[in-house]
Amino acid sequence: MDSNMNNRDFVGYFPIADGRRRDAELFGAIEDEFHRQQNQIELIASENFVSMDVLSALGNVMTNKYAEGYPNKRYYGGCGYVDVAEKLAIKRICELFNCRFANVQPHSGAQANLSVLYALARPGDVVLGMGLAMGGHLTHGAAPTISGRWFRSISYGVTEDGFIDYDQVLRLAREHMPKVIICGASSYSRRIDFERFREISDSVEAYLFADVAHYAGLIVAGLYPSPMNHAHVVTSTTHKTLRGPRGGIILTNDASLAKKIDSAVFPGVQGGPLMNVIAAKAVAFEEALQPEFKKYAKNVLENSIVLADRLKELGLDIISGGTDSHMSVLDLTRLSITGKVAEMELEEVGITCNKNAIPFDELPPSQTSGIRVGSAAMTTRGFGVDEFVQIADLIHRVLANYGNPNHEVIKMDARMEAANLCRRFPLYNT
Ligand SMILES: *Cc1c(COP(=O)(O)O)cnc(C)c1O
Repeated sequence: MDSNMNNRDFVGYFPIADGRRRDAELFGAIEDEFHRQQNQIELIASENFVSMDVLSALGNVMTNKYAEGYPNKRYYGGCGYVDVAEKLAIKRICELFNCRFANVQPHSGAQANLSVLYALARPGDVVLGMGLAMGGHLTHGAAPTISGRWFRSISYGVTEDGFIDYDQVLRLAREHMPKVIICGASSYSRRIDFERFREISDSVEAYLFADVAHYAGLIVAGLYPSPMNHAHVVTSTTHKTLRGPRGGIILTNDASLAKKIDSAVFPGVQGGPLMNVIAAKAVAFEEALQPEFKKYAKNVLENSIVLADRLKELGLDIISGGTDSHMSVLDLTRLSITGKVAEMELEEVGITCNKNAIPFDELPPSQTSGIRVGSAAMTTRGFGVDEFVQIADLIHRVLANYGNPNHEVIKMDARMEAANLCRRFPLYNT
């Protein structure tokens, strides 16, 4: 990431210097968050660092504009320039995914998913999705969400070896005749066979809805299978491996579905779009079209595989035994440490990740038996294979020595090592 600004200037790049005088508490928190990001090794698989261009596009005057509707069909005057931004975002994401229609207005991945279910199904219809503890997302039918309350939600999972149980998907589809089958996941590291999902959907005349929130950046770089020619509808977040601002998108090749989806997003689920965020999406999509992004995605995948391999070499268990993506889920059962404790121990040495349920987990979601780690964010900061080997060693040292009398000393060393790594790869070159 190129920027000549030093740390002071960077903080001053936003109206923080002035704001701080008036509202020290809030602007102080923004500054503190910047330093936290700067000084921790970020392994949360759903996070990334946007470029300076995306960051500055997020704070622009388009936030002042109401633009309910779609380009050339707005309910407000004065939309000529925001139309340019939204049309660019649509054109670029269609090019990235090689698809015909895109809606770039969803405020988030969850809003994109709700809009799709609103377009394709009615309350009471059966929706078949991947179970939360098996790697699926909340919005794929989990009980506390609209997707679990308004629809009759059925869940599939993985087999003992950690791979999606396609036979179970077929069996459940035949038994329950879903209106929609959802594929895609939040903590599933392997390739998803979208073609097979489509065969199953066709056999029961269900819509196939693929949510590639996590894999989008790898897909557009050609490093993970694309669902575009198999699923009726595809959604994604824009802020995970795609490295854009927080937000959602919905894609399809079907003109009549595209119309239904547009009405489902607005006025179905949302009001006015966030035009500044849409402008920032357009910036990020343009970046993702560049050859450098392909190189970035290749490094993300390589680093993730190195991290998983090294952790395995050190004796840690990885769900499914490896990864085909930017993330891995570690099974901590054999270390006799919960995901919750592991997350806290790692945070104390400056490594951020999240506790995560493992398939067939016997612990509640507040504890869990696993953690999820991802390579997208630190690859953006320039970490390569050597640094990810070092991260694996740090994780192993901290977790395997939990309860050891020397643990606090080991952690102090690890903390210094993590801080040194971060210093060598500054965020925004500050
Ligand atoms: C992250 C994620 C989402 C939700 O995205 P938000 O922007 O947090 O609403 C949806 N689906 C999957 C598979 C995800 O991983």
